[in-house]
Amino acid sequence: MAEPLLRVEHLDVSYDGAVQALRDVSLEVGAGSVVAVLGSNGAGKTSLLRAVSRALGSYGGAVTGGTIRYQGADLAGLDTSAVVRRGLVQVPEGRRVFRDLTVEENLRAGGFTVRDGKARDEARDRVFDLFPVLAERRGQLGGLLSGGQQQMLAMGRALMTSPELLLLDEPSLGLAPLLVDQIGEIVTTINAQGTAVLLIEQNAVMGLRVADRAYVLEVGHVTASGSAAELAASDDVRERYLGVA
Ligand code: ATP
Repeated sequence: MAEPLLRVEHLDVSYDGAVQALRDVSLEVGAGSVVAVLGSNGAGKTSLLRAVSRALGSYGGAVTGGTIRYQGADLAGLDTSAVVRRGLVQVPEGRRVFRDLTVEENLRAGGFTVRDGKARDEARDRVFDLFPVLAERRGQLGGLLSGGQQQMLAMGRALMTSPELLLLDEPSLGLAPLLVDQIGEIVTTINAQGTAVLLIEQNAVMGLRVADRAYVLEVGHVTASGSAAELAASDDVRERYLGVA
């Protein structure tokens, strides 16, 4: 069988050598697919993304067991910028945009690894096509955008490197329902343009709507997985995550 784009096997993650955030977590993301990871607060979703994007160390965390393979190669020993150059880019939770830079400057910062100016302009134009509101506000400071627009800018910044795998941490957090739908549609469009997405979501309705497959994470452990349709039909998921009995 062909190697999936991302394969996480038996992953253990701890913070400060004490708090165990993930225990024996295995999951796969196939090239060009959308995979959602659902789970409540503190389930370990962000820790999983940090492990994959190699950012755990900045938060006092470490991988203490298991492997993460991307494009068939073990990511152990690589740092965040090395994985970004390989096309694996994370959009962090809380839409951390540069508040004192304009929209356009934020995008340029996201494309810092793209050395060719023409390629960078093309990437920026693709982002503007995807998020017309960012084109309209290209000269506005990041800090003055609404929450939804900041989320779009954070996603746009990550897209500047034309990633093969986009890691999205709770893009719907704190957004009004209409905007959540809009972000969901944009994820689908990004995917249709060829980017695989690993989507972390507390909003299971949105996660299962856009994903092909999904995993449920509870207290650091995978408790269910399957196609999005299978999980949406499961009594347990319906009761606990979709709010229907
Ligand atoms: P949330 O939705 O609140 O972000 P989550 O599912 O993403 O939750 P994590 O943030 O990965 O969960 O947290 C998993 C566990 O790891 C929790 O017990 C949390 O307290 C702990 N943890 C997370 N970050 C750190 C850190 N920097 N230092 C110590 N413990 C941490």
